[in-house]
Parts: sequence; structure tokens; C-alpha cells
Amino acid sequence: MNDCLPTKSALWQRVEGTIKEILHTYGYSEIRTPIVEMTNLFYRAIGEVTDVVEKELYTFQDRNGDSLSLRPEGTASCVRAGMENGLFHNQEQRLWYMGSMFRHERPQKGRYRQFHQFGVEVFGLTGPDVDAELIMITACIWRALGIIDDVHLELNSIGSFETRANYREALVAFLQQHESVLDDDCKRRMHTNTLRVFDTKVPEIQDVLTDAPKLYEYLDNESKQHLLGLCELLDSVGIQYSINEKLVRGLDYYNRTVFEWITGKLGTQGTICGGGRYDGLVEKLGGDTTAAVGFAIGIERLVLLIETLGLNKTRPIVDVYMVTTGEGTLIAGMKLAEVLREKIIGLRVMMHFGGGNFKKQFKRADKVGASVALVLGEKEVSQNMVTYKDLKSGEQLIISQDDVAGKLAQLV
Ligand code: ATP
Ligand code: MG
Repeated sequence: MNDCLPTKSALWQRVEGTIKEILHTYGYSEIRTPIVEMTNLFYRAIGEVTDVVEKELYTFQDRNGDSLSLRPEGTASCVRAGMENGLFHNQEQRLWYMGSMFRHERPQKGRYRQFHQFGVEVFGLTGPDVDAELIMITACIWRALGIIDDVHLELNSIGSFETRANYREALVAFLQQHESVLDDDCKRRMHTNTLRVFDTKVPEIQDVLTDAPKLYEYLDNESKQHLLGLCELLDSVGIQYSINEKLVRGLDYYNRTVFEWITGKLGTQGTICGGGRYDGLVEKLGGDTTAAVGFAIGIERLVLLIETLGLNKTRPIVDVYMVTTGEGTLIAGMKLAEVLREKIIGLRVMMHFGGGNFKKQFKRADKVGASVALVLGEKEVSQNMVTYKDLKSGEQLIISQDDVAGKLAQLV
């Protein structure tokens, strides 16, 4: 679990702010849910034989003896909240959330025990139009962050429940023929959650799986049409993708469309966004049949990618540094700073506190990255003037305090 220190939080804010703004331009609204849920919710929603539930859940008993778990992802909570509050009753919902998720994984680059996801969930729309929109939203986010050329989209359809049941038989038969190369994880999955063998990160097993029966050949007609429809929409808006027949995703609730955005720049933890359709989940949790589709972006990996590409520039925390020296100048500076913050929305003015000579104060101004220092001595204060020093060019002039806002407005 990581601290997000001030040196990093500005980039996080830029990333989160960009994503939020984009989602609002598509008409999506925020939902906030608790970070703990009844453990049973995750067992039912995500599936008991998934890594997330089997190995990674943070579970504890509260004082009533109830079993609670920290959420490992956001979809289950969204569905629970929607059901409890009647959000799915003859309604469409286009929701987003951002928050901490918890998985007891082996910590490594790109995989942490507390991490953050930006998620989107849409309910009541069967697609494939909305599937395409979700992918368009993600593409829009990558463009805004400048990483679109460093990620690619992989797409698949895992069909209906029946598709997977039929396919499973064929896959088990294939795996039994190759049992000698499988590791324990895959052997176990073969019987409990067969499709999940495609999640393996072991290259030798991945090689063998290249020859496995293709799920596409078992796909029901409606799912095929759905996938073709989605591909057509993506083609017409110019979003490139590749079909990855082995893409199955780590949670049980998906059907039909599944997709991932992957980067080659982060090693094995290269998936920065995963999503798909989960039309059966609301019903599985006891609600009415409700079409649903969503995705989640892993913010740590996204931030890591932005840093790796050297795109992590953020605006300095301070535009203007207020330097004062002499009797009564500090309070005059604080008042002037208040006026400036009020007049110029978004202007960042930092006061120098603790006294000291000019040299010391200017050093601080440089350290915080200010572009301008305003200097108030006793003389300036008595004449309602201020010294304006451009810290980049060194230019310095004395102007009226009433005119300084006009000169600073260009900074924001
Ligand atoms: P992976 O196979 O890479 O572990 P996953 O299938 O477990 O991913 P999802 O449950 O689909 O991941 O979560 C969506 C996204 O959240 C991932 O693509 C990834 O960017 C991010 N993510 C998942 N687990 C972690 C983690 N432990 N630490 C940081 N980010 C994570
Ligand atoms: Mg995982």
C-alpha cells in the first residue's frame, strides 16, 4: 500500500480531473459506495474460484460477527447499490466511480495491495452501441493524456453462458491431452473455472494454448452479431483493435464483449484498463434481468505509463510568491494576496512566512516553482505600490497594487 506524496499528487489530480471531465461530457454521473461490503456479495458476484476471491480478498469479522471484506473492485458494489436503491427499475444508468480497491496480491511493479480504479458501469442498455461508446470514452481519455500511441485495444466475445458451457467441454478435453505441461494453478482451474487457464502468465503454457480449440467457433449467433456490430462501430470511428481469442478476463460475471487496453511499456503488468459486458450479474444477485457493461482503469498503472513516457509535467504548485520585509508589510502582503486570489480565479499565491532577508525569500520562491515574486517593503506599502519580479526573465518593475491583478491574469 503506497502513500501518495505531494510530489506525485499533482499528477494524480491531473489524471483524475481529465477522466472526470471527459465522463461528464458523455453524460455520466458519479456514484460513491462504501469501501467495505458483506463478504458474501463478492463471493456471489465475482465468483468463488477466481483469484480475486480465492486468494486476494481482505476479509474480517466486525463486532457483530458479520463477515465483511474490503472491496477488490467496484462493479459488485455498484450493482448492490443500484438494486437496493431501485436504480435499475425501468431506467438507464450511466455511472462512474473512482476509489481505492484492495487485493492481497504479491506486491510487484504495477500490482499493489491498495490500488485505485476509475470505473464506469452502464445499466439497462444492451449494446453494441454502448459497448462502442465505452471504448470511445477510453480512447478519448488516452488521447487527452497523450498516451494513445502507446496503448492498443484487444477485443473478444466470450458469448453466452451456453456458449461457454459447450466450449468448456472441448477445452477440458484439450487440456487433458496436455496435462503434463500444465502447472498446478492451471490443473486446478481446468476443473473449477476452465476458461481461466488463459490467464496464465507462464510462456510455455501460453504456447500450448495457441492450439487450443477456439471459443469463437462455439459462439452463439447473437453474440457473433453483437461482436460484429461492435467491430463495425469501432471501424467507423477509426478505433483500431485486434481480436484476441484468448482474452477471458479475471472475474466470473462477464459475457459477450470483453476488452483490454494494453501497453508494451510496463512489462507483464501492461493492462491499464479492462472491461466488458455482464448482462447476467444483476439477476444473479437477485434483481431483474438487466443489461450491463463497464470498464475499470487502473490508475497506478496509468500514472506509471505517463511517467515512463515522460508526460508527467504538472503545473507548479505556486504562480506567485509574496515576499515581504519591514514593519507592517506581512499583513499588507496577506491582504493583497487575498485580493488577487479573489480577482483571478485559480491563481496560486503562496505567502512567505518566517521572515529572513530577500535572498532567502527569493530562494524559496524558486524552490516552489513560482513564476512571479511580489515584493512589499515599507516604502511600497506606504505608496500602495508593489515590486513585480518576473522570476523567469529577471525583469523587475514597480507598479500600483491596483494594477497588479491585470498583469498576473496571464499566469492562469
Ligand atoms: P491483472 O491480470 O493485470 O492482475 P485483473 O484482471 O486482476 O488484472 P481487473 O480486475 O480487470 O484486473 O482490474 C482492472 C484494472 O485494474 C487492471 O487492468 C489494472 O490496471 C488494475 N489493477 C488490478 N489489480 C491491480 C493491483 N493489484 N494493483 C494495481 N492495479 C491493479
Ligand atoms: Mg489480477
